[in-house]
Amino acid sequence: MCQRLSLILDPNMTSRGQITSLNVTFLGTASAQPSPTRNHSALSLRLGSDVWLFDCGEATQHQLQKSNVKMGKVEKIFITHTHGDHIFGVIPLMASLLNGAGGVTEGSEDPRLNVETETAALEIYGPLGTRAYIRNGLAYTHTQLGSSYVVHELRFSKDPPSGDFTALAPQNAECLFGRNILETNASWLDIYKDDVVSVSAAPIHHSVPCVGYVVKEAPVPGKIDPAKYVPELRRTKTPMSVMRQLQQGESITLNDGTVLHGPPRRNGRKIAILGDTYDPSPIISLAEDADLLIHEATNAHLPGIDPNTKDTDNYQSVEDRTKSRGHSTPQMAGSFAKGIRAKNLILNHFSARYPGDDSDESKVIMGAIAQLAASEYGQEVICARDLMSLDISISEK
Ligand SMILES: [Zn+2]
Ligand SMILES: [Zn+2]
Repeated sequence: MCQRLSLILDPNMTSRGQITSLNVTFLGTASAQPSPTRNHSALSLRLGSDVWLFDCGEATQHQLQKSNVKMGKVEKIFITHTHGDHIFGVIPLMASLLNGAGGVTEGSEDPRLNVETETAALEIYGPLGTRAYIRNGLAYTHTQLGSSYVVHELRFSKDPPSGDFTALAPQNAECLFGRNILETNASWLDIYKDDVVSVSAAPIHHSVPCVGYVVKEAPVPGKIDPAKYVPELRRTKTPMSVMRQLQQGESITLNDGTVLHGPPRRNGRKIAILGDTYDPSPIISLAEDADLLIHEATNAHLPGIDPNTKDTDNYQSVEDRTKSRGHSTPQMAGSFAKGIRAKNLILNHFSARYPGDDSDESKVIMGAIAQLAASEYGQEVICARDLMSLDISISEK
């Protein structure tokens, strides 16, 4: 069994070490069409120095170069659905990240034909079609990768449980241990898990098969108050090194029989990252109480603010039209966030007509969109902009 696969299957074997910082950077916040101020969908989640991407629209590698996120640290990519605005950037990114090249002339030796595929340098998760798209894209562009990758597909209950959906054989760099993970009880639990973080997914309603991902940090050590322990340790001449065990929530019996209990562990952070949706209700049980919910808000009714507003439109007609295309309005996002008791809500995936820069026009329009969502959510809402970056702290509650 290869090392990487065993890490996935046996969480006891992986030690990531506690996550020092958790950061979200929005690389692209546009919907179907990009604009001068918004690129196609992609966001990075940094767990310490490791980088996971969620969606990878066209030109994501350009956005990475403009951001503080190091492309070389990308270890996983999670695709919500195979619409082009969420996946067109995967192959170019792989070509850069995995040292791709266009082959050599006849008679020359190509070292990329001997890639080690026992372990995967890059793991990709996505719905049915992700593996075939990448395999075909690499093959027909004659792209030879210098490092390996693997694709794990989330198979919906109506999908065939096996098969790669392409007649092409795997290319030189594709690992053969890509899993087809079957939907079970309307979700895919722990598609990745190590000692401090896990990723699960559930279907969300869109115009094509689409998922939302929930990243969950394992419980973290509680806050320790040394004043509560040090006098007892001194009194019984117990080495101060036991503070480390107490910090981990363990109990210590002192030599006079006194038992000290470390502070109870606190809930780790939970982040729900949804793909395109007009109704994400199937992911409610996974996403409840998320520290951060990232939800799309493709269209909004903004009379008097958006000059392109049609005279015949009203909130209901815009919502009906938005839903018919598989998308949400800000109010729908706010209402969902409230329903799952999300602690923070950030909107993304905006129509190209909503600018994402420092202009007064952008501030007015995006402020109005945030306000529409907040009217349902009951709390402040942030509209994402490209390259916006924020740290997610551990909730004190
Ligand atoms: Zn989209
Ligand atoms: Zn879509």
